[in-house]
Order: sequence, then C-alpha cells, then structure tokens
Amino acid sequence: MKISELGEFGLIDRLAQAFAEAGRPDSLLIGIGDDTAAWKASGVQLITTDTLIEGTHFSLRYWGWRDLGWNALAVNVSDIGAMGGTPEQALLTLALPPDASVADLDELAAGLVEAGREYGTAIVGGDIVASDTLMVTVALIGRATVDTEGEPLLMTRDGARAGDVIAVTGYLGDSAAGLRLLLDEKQADPEAAEHLRKAHLRHRPPLAVGRMAARLSVRAAIDVSDGLLQDLGHVCRASGLGAVVRAAAVPMSPALVRSFPGQALSLACSGGEDYQLLLVAPGHTIQQVQRVSKGPVSIIGEMVADPEHRARLLDATGKELSLPAAGWDHLREAPWRK
Ligand code: ADP
Ligand code: MG
Repeated sequence: MKISELGEFGLIDRLAQAFAEAGRPDSLLIGIGDDTAAWKASGVQLITTDTLIEGTHFSLRYWGWRDLGWNALAVNVSDIGAMGGTPEQALLTLALPPDASVADLDELAAGLVEAGREYGTAIVGGDIVASDTLMVTVALIGRATVDTEGEPLLMTRDGARAGDVIAVTGYLGDSAAGLRLLLDEKQADPEAAEHLRKAHLRHRPPLAVGRMAARLSVRAAIDVSDGLLQDLGHVCRASGLGAVVRAAAVPMSPALVRSFPGQALSLACSGGEDYQLLLVAPGHTIQQVQRVSKGPVSIIGEMVADPEHRARLLDATGKELSLPAAGWDHLREAPWRK
C-alpha cells in the first residue's frame, strides 16, 4: 500500500502507535496527538536538529529505510553526546514522496524505535509534508550533565587550552570505507567488508563516554562527523589554538587497514560520518576517561599555540603530511552522483 492511500492522519496514527510501543518517559505529559507535546523539565536543556536528504546525505540504493530511521536519530544523539548531555525527546519531520510504501515507513519507524531504545529517547511529535525528495529531520532535546551545585558541565569547541591532549573514541575511517564498499563492490575480505559496511549503515555515537567525560571535567569536545582534521579544525578556530596529530596514533580498525592499506590513513583523517567523539583535556583527565571507558579512547596529539589555528597531521619524523581528500563538505558533490 502507498502512503497516499493511508493519508496524512492515517500515517500519523500508525507512527504514533509504533512510537508508543517503545514506551514514554515519565516526564512526558502530552505526546503525539495534540497541538504540542508537553513535559516536565529541569536543569539546563540542550537542543539540536539535523536533516538527512536522499541524494545528498544518503541513497536508498544501500541504506535501508530502517537504517535511515536509526541514523536520523543517531546523528542528533551524537551532537547531544558531544556536549556531554543526555538526549530525551525528539520531533520527527518527514518530507515524503506520496508513492512511498507504508511498509517502508514501518521500517523507518522501526529504525527510529530501535535507536530510541538504545539511546533512551522518545519521539513526542513531528510533522509530515509531501515532497518529491525524501527528507527526514529530527530535532532532539536533551539535558546537560550538571555538577553537585546544578551548574552545567558542557563540553564546547572553545574549551581547549594549549598543552591539552587530544583523544578520540573508537576507530576512525570505517564508515567512509564502508561507503566505498557499498558504492562499488571492490573485492575485499568478506568479514572486514561486513564490518566496514555496518559502520556506514548504522552510526553508533558513544553517548555514555560523552556524559562520563563531562562529569570528569573534560571541557572541550566535538563529534567527528565531517572528518577528524576538519572537525578538529573547528576546535582549533573556536579555541584560538593549533593542533598536532600524530598519524601513527590515529586509531584504525584492523578491517580498515586490511581492506584499504594505501588509503586507510586518509579515510581515517578525512573520511567523515564516523560519529566518534573527539575529547580535548589535560592528560590526567583523558587518562581518567580512558580508565572508565568501555571502548577504546586513543590519545592522538595535543593542542599547541599556533597563530594560524590549524590542525596538522605529522608523520613519525615530525614532518607535516597533506592528505589527498578534504573532509566532508555539503557544498561538495555527493560521491554517489559521480
Ligand atoms: P498541526 O496541524 O497542529 O501541525 P498535525 O496534524 O501536523 O498538527 O499533527 C498532529 C499530531 O501528530 C501532532 O501532535 C504532531 O506532533 C504529530 N505528528 C505529526 N507528524 C508526525 C511525525 N512525523 N512523527 C511524529 N508525530 C507526528
Ligand atoms: Mg503539522
């Protein structure tokens, strides 16, 4: 069945039912179905939004509708995590081609519900419009982590100091490598290829690490969504500093190194869509984060005084490396259109 046969209100009811089954937070007073949602809030609130557009951010040639649902929430969770906060309620705006199938929309809802369970968020409202281009926008509200006095512990881009250590969670480059494998079926070790494709199809921001880092008084962070060097560059400019990153310290998965031996470093430094966390803090603070974090947290470099406010990648001899590809830029052509 097409969604045009179900109609706007039929589709809202169907989505509302799917989201209701995922449970609702205790703080929620009014969910989907009234003019606005309402909930009890306290402390310092965080709000963010991100849009995924077919043909610009993804292609349904390789993302399933369930992946789309998961990722639409996950990319917003990543931003809340990078501030050290806890995501709570979300709004979902869908721009849908009227010939989209109800089964596909059910899959989209299932992906949103899965991610909602994983990250503890609920969809409490939204909007639906007809459009030739498929677009999914999530707006996500969260709560900042606070200290014992109720003061917010926020990790900001301008919070870095000269001498601070730069650390990154997980592995970088897997998602960009996975996209390459999804776009052209390069022969690769099947197990490694599966790992890399999964990294591209399901973004998994390390939410718990962000919150823990904020509590341990890390004051500067950013999520790595557009490539390590580009996102670190934002921290450099906001903090009025430069950064040096040792190429040998950039964490790369065995699957990435095995499948793209010649390009692994470039994918890891400028690939994009990693949704890992970059944390900047004094060395002893980063060591505390490393001790309590379940996943890997790698020290890759440090912040330095630099009037140019640049992020530099250095080889083992201290020579600056320049990489062939720049980070993701929305004004750049989407790779699958080439
Ligand atoms: P309004 O005319 O006031 O904008 P709508 O008819 O668009 O109301 O929406 C009715 C209810 O359904 C509202 O509570 C709204 O938040 C919710 N809703 C609409 N679209 C979505 C969606 N895509 N996901 C979740 N809730 C939605
Ligand atoms: Mg509306």
